[in-house]
Amino acid sequence: MIRMRQVGIEHLNRLIACELCPHRCGVNRLNGQVGFCRAGRDVVLYRYGPHMGEEPPISGSSGSGTVFFSRCTLRCVYCQNYPWSQEDAGRGYRTEQLLEVFAELASAGCHNLNLVSPTSWLPQVEEALACTDSAGQGLPVVYNTSGYELEETLEWFGERVSVFLTDLRYAEPQSAAEGSGQADYVDVARAALQKMWAMRGALEVDENDIAVSGVICRILVLPGREGEAIDNLHWIADTMGTDVSISLMSQYTPAYRATTVGGNWARPVTRREYERVCREMMDLGFDRGWMQEFKETQEELIGYRMAPDEGC
Ligand code: SF4
Repeated sequence: MIRMRQVGIEHLNRLIACELCPHRCGVNRLNGQVGFCRAGRDVVLYRYGPHMGEEPPISGSSGSGTVFFSRCTLRCVYCQNYPWSQEDAGRGYRTEQLLEVFAELASAGCHNLNLVSPTSWLPQVEEALACTDSAGQGLPVVYNTSGYELEETLEWFGERVSVFLTDLRYAEPQSAAEGSGQADYVDVARAALQKMWAMRGALEVDENDIAVSGVICRILVLPGREGEAIDNLHWIADTMGTDVSISLMSQYTPAYRATTVGGNWARPVTRREYERVCREMMDLGFDRGWMQEFKETQEELIGYRMAPDEGC
C-alpha cells in the first residue's frame, strides 16, 4: 500500500474553472460539469504498462512506463486511440490508485513515467506525484502530447517534466481543422514547442542512452501533406536550430473516421512522400533524431534508426 503524504488541494483548484488547455472551457469539473474533453473529477485511464514502441532513449531495454489517459483535447479523424480518446473506454482512478499505477511501473523496472495525453488530468497527476515519497520517485517524467498545449500550463506542470515528447503535425490551419478539428493548432503547437525548448532544451541521455532531459519533436508525415512536414522542419531549423531531436514518423494509418471523411486522409503515406521528407531532414542537418523505417504494410511498421542514414 502506498503511504500518502498530506498535501493541499491547490492543484485541484485548477478544475474549478478549467483552463488547462487552449479550449479554456471555464467549467467547474469538481461540480460535475464537463467541457470539450469531457474529463471530470477522477482520472480516467485506459491502460498502463511497460512499452517498447517509443523512441530508443524512451523505451530503452526495459520499456517506458506508459500510462494511456482517456479523453483528449483534439478530435483527430485518424486517431488510432479513439476507443479511449474519443469514446468512453477506460475506468476511473482516485489519487491513491494512480499512485499504485506509478509504483507498479517503477517496480517493473521502467525507465520513466510516460504520460500519454495527460493534459486534461494534470492537477490530479500533480496531486499524485506530490503526495508520496515512493511511487515513481526518481523516474523521469515524459510528457507525451499532441502539442496542443497552453504555455502557462506548461510553465506550471513543466517543473515536473524531464522530457517533452511532443507532436508537430500540421503547418496549414486548413489541414489542422480538417485533421484535428482545430485550425489554431499550428500557432498553438509551435508556441508550445518553443516553450518546451526554452524549458528543457536539447535531449540528454545517461550512460545507458536513456533520456534524462530535453525535447523530442515528433513529425508525423501525413498523406498528401508531406510539404507541411517539410515546412515544419524548416521552421524548427530557423527558430530553434538543428539540435532539436526530430522523430520522423511514417506510420500514419487511416483509422477511426479517416476512411469516411475521404480525400487523402483515407490512405497511408506513400514511400515517395516519406522519402521526400527524410531527404529534407538530412539536408537541413538534423542529426540527433530518428527516422521510422518505411514499410509497405502497416503490420510491418514500427522500428527506428538513427538519422541521418542513407535513404529511408
Ligand atoms: S482540459 Fe478539458 S475542460 Fe479543461 S479547458 Fe481543456 S477541454 Fe476544457
